[in-house]
Amino acid sequence: MNLFELTISQINQGLKKKEFSALDLCQTYFKEIKDKDKKISSFLSLSESSALSQAKEVDDLIKDNQEIGPLAGVPCAIKDNILVQDIKCTAGSKILENYVAPYDATVIKKLKKQKAIIVGKTNLDEFAMGSSTENSAFGPTHNPNDLTRVPGGSSGGSAAAVAANLSRYSLGSDTGGSIRLPASFCGVVGLKPTYGAVSRYGLIAFASSLDQIGPFAKTIEDCKIVFDAIKGEDEMDSTSAPLKNENLNFNIENLKIGVPKEYFVKGIDPEVEKIIKGAIKKYEEAGAKIEEVSLPNTEYALPAYYIISPSEASANLARFDGIKYGYSEDKKNNLLDVYLDSRGKGFGPEVRRRIMIGTYALSSGYYEAYYLRAEKVRNLIKNDFEKAFNKVDVLMAPVSPFLPFKIGERIQDPLSMYLVDVYTVSINLAGLPALSLPVGKVGNLPVGLQIIGKPFQEDMILETGRVFENNQK
Ligand code: GLN
Repeated sequence: MNLFELTISQINQGLKKKEFSALDLCQTYFKEIKDKDKKISSFLSLSESSALSQAKEVDDLIKDNQEIGPLAGVPCAIKDNILVQDIKCTAGSKILENYVAPYDATVIKKLKKQKAIIVGKTNLDEFAMGSSTENSAFGPTHNPNDLTRVPGGSSGGSAAAVAANLSRYSLGSDTGGSIRLPASFCGVVGLKPTYGAVSRYGLIAFASSLDQIGPFAKTIEDCKIVFDAIKGEDEMDSTSAPLKNENLNFNIENLKIGVPKEYFVKGIDPEVEKIIKGAIKKYEEAGAKIEEVSLPNTEYALPAYYIISPSEASANLARFDGIKYGYSEDKKNNLLDVYLDSRGKGFGPEVRRRIMIGTYALSSGYYEAYYLRAEKVRNLIKNDFEKAFNKVDVLMAPVSPFLPFKIGERIQDPLSMYLVDVYTVSINLAGLPALSLPVGKVGNLPVGLQIIGKPFQEDMILETGRVFENNQK
């Protein structure tokens, strides 16, 4: 039996029927990690001994004929900006190189309650700022489909680990595209939930009004199982929202799909466009109604995002001062020098750039011209989506205008890196849920279709995704 081919529910069945043990499964995954991850570098740290002992616990429960949850014994990987108690959490930064998490994030508590097996922490752009994982202080992750290319970012390690079968599923975070982009570039399913659907408690904050934790998996069904496990209101996160369990009556023939015309303009790689349009055509053939819609403020999304997110980041990252957390330059009696040198040496160039942009945008005299204005644009973008969703149930678009690019190709030019996010940041500004679904390849390079939904309609976009997936079988 090829254990890597099993879905989460097949693993659950196999464990219950004692076709293999959780320990077998865990050891198989660690063997694969040791064989392959030297080349991919998806992990920053592994937790082999705790994973193996957790796997034995699951086997004991099964021996005792106890009920096990759907994720019990299933190996997973966690982006290294989500706290797992007693394990290092670096956020891909030198400033947190030796920081050990003192508590579990809410999502981790939920996974542990189900007896999920955490195999390790995955690589990311420093503090989740980037689109290629090249901003990690610990070196880039390589795309498993082509090792010379980036896996996307910032959750590149989490996406690559799932794509290469180094974990069955993983968690990432998405502030401006960081789940969807790597899911698209690596060819796996990635879900960015509605803002508030999943607790952010224990996620190292980048831009608090945009950040969301979400899953990567091989299939829609697996993605749904993980999302259901981590979602829900949390008293530790006042922005988390109670979720209603609505019974979705999904029928492809009643589905109205909107295609935003602003997402198919000059600049998109024609091969990407062809695959995305081909996928949308499949939906039409399956009975859905396709309608062109307009999101007229799309062109302002990227500038608004690159004001709002660095502004919030500059405030969130103020806590890393060389005193409270992590790396510290000892300057004896001069406190200001401790701050300046610890931050100057602890943060990498992209993080420093964002802190400077954010501090500038928030400073007195400039606040109205930049931050406040960007917030107004954000409202216009939200309104665009609301209007579109009066007419259609979901929107479909590319995740990125580009195919996975070469490592080193964009890293010297921040603006060209920011352009990679042109189709993803609006969704965060509007707080909506969106899925990246693998729908084709150019050579061996995957292309993801973005399916965007109304707030808290994750089930609708997942069911929509399932239609394409079932057609591929
Ligand atoms: N690439 C975007 C940025 O660098 C998004 C990152 C993210 O979603 N964490 O800000």
